[in-house]
Amino acid sequence: MEETNFERTENDYCTKHREKLVDYCFDDHEPLCHVCSHYEDHKKHKVKPLKEIMVEEESTIIDTRKRLTEAIKSIELSFFKMNIEALQAHKELYI
Ligand SMILES: [Zn+2]
Ligand SMILES: [Zn+2]
Repeated sequence: MEETNFERTENDYCTKHREKLVDYCFDDHEPLCHVCSHYEDHKKHKVKPLKEIMVEEESTIIDTRKRLTEAIKSIELSFFKMNIEALQAHKELYI
């Protein structure tokens, strides 16, 4: 039980300092703990809090979803129009 818990949470903790990962370094493409992010070499790097990134990602997902829904709507609308046109053409043939 303890072992699985450790494995599960290991990714959330810094392997060097055993501290919780709170930041992300865009230069190294790796998550950092608060000790890492205050290290000299990361100080000059682009570091952002993980929480902020998660919020951004969430809004990107919502944005993508919105765009997808709009795309689906416009496809449905064009299909609808096509159907009406087809119906009208069909009617014209038989009128
Ligand atoms: Zn660290
Ligand atoms: Zn770095």
